[in-house]
Amino acid sequence: MRYIDRVLTSNSTARRTADLVNVLSQEPATPDTVADVLREHGESGPLDLSPDDITAMRKAAEALREVFAAPTTDAAAEALNRLLRKSPGRLRLTAHHGTTPWHPHLDRDDDAPWGEWLLASSCLALAVLIWDGQRPPGGICASPTCANVYLTLGSGPPRRFCSRRCATRERVAAHRRKSQ
Ligand SMILES: [Zn+2]
Repeated sequence: MRYIDRVLTSNSTARRTADLVNVLSQEPATPDTVADVLREHGESGPLDLSPDDITAMRKAAEALREVFAAPTTDAAAEALNRLLRKSPGRLRLTAHHGTTPWHPHLDRDDDAPWGEWLLASSCLALAVLIWDGQRPPGGICASPTCANVYLTLGSGPPRRFCSRRCATRERVAAHRRKSQ
């Protein structure tokens, strides 16, 4: 069950989505590794994550990858719409019984299970990114040895890699191939 909900902006919610998709795609994703990522993004209560929750969250992460894999804005919007059609809840505002500022949720209620919460909160954040940016909300790392997703936030040239680490590794590899 969801325990505490720190209110994040849509951008920071999207960052949490990308980090969760990445940790959940790794082997093995465990309640501990997933809890670490949730804590990095401000969750402070006891996180009651079971192995079944992790299985459900992995399924949600897999579904969310399709939005990151979409090559165009139209394809990302369509992928997101497919997920939104399956959403069990309707858009609502919650303040978690007065413990947080009002913010939007798309899950069934404040006690929705983790998998449902991840899918719903991620869909909401990614929808806002498409709305605001009119571009794909992110992508999948271009490194052949990395499967991480990344977000397209702010301005600047389009990204191809999840991290500076991957960009540098691939630049070095390309340079080596050229000089051989
Ligand atoms: Zn990468």
